[in-house]
Amino acid sequence: MEGTNFTMLKPLNSLTLAHFLVKQAVFPGAAVVDATAGRGRDTAFLAQAVGQDGQVWAFDIQPEALESTAALLTQNHLTEQVTLVCAGHEHLAEYVHRPIAAAMFNLGYLPSGNKSLITRAETSLPALKAALDKLRPGGVVTLVVYTGHPGGAEEAAQLETFLESLSQHEFDVLKFTYPNRVKSNPYLIAIWKQQLEVGNV
Ligand code: SAH
Repeated sequence: MEGTNFTMLKPLNSLTLAHFLVKQAVFPGAAVVDATAGRGRDTAFLAQAVGQDGQVWAFDIQPEALESTAALLTQNHLTEQVTLVCAGHEHLAEYVHRPIAAAMFNLGYLPSGNKSLITRAETSLPALKAALDKLRPGGVVTLVVYTGHPGGAEEAAQLETFLESLSQHEFDVLKFTYPNRVKSNPYLIAIWKQQLEVGNV
């Protein structure tokens, strides 16, 4: 579905860049999380990347989102390795009992859905913490962040304040912004859990 070659990132945006980064951290058989299934694009991408021996948990609180996701997975023969969870991502630790290689968050509201049902820091922040707890060394968490809707900027600010508090000896945090696009353009944050270097153990 996605190439690992950077020249194949078309269009180059936060979503494709997130896929590119996640692709480097996942492998066949890995366990991964889609924290916001939405229309299922990330779920399908993750299912493809981990293969039939892998495990994907995809969370969403809206049945409509999970129905769209299920349809996309069926169409692409990717249902076997995916567990669709109709619950808030803040419950991640109740469902996921394995170290994960990646977790993807696509914040905001469901495209062509209920625009008032948005992700909020009171739940996305605990979910992010739970995902980082479960992350294996070398694994990555991606957050596509939207600030153009009411509540978006507040959520982004709270998530970023938390990320600034993470130990630089444990996590690498990068923020990819677009200085020449409109301010509300979604941006990407990626967080890697560091691996111990040989000789440093
Ligand atoms: N803004 C993106 C899509 C985001 S979809 C775009 O434009 O492409 C975000 C999804 O998060 C929605 O389907 C919504 O139902 C879901 N969501 C909201 N709160 C949630 C929660 N606590 N746990 C899991 N999913 C949640």
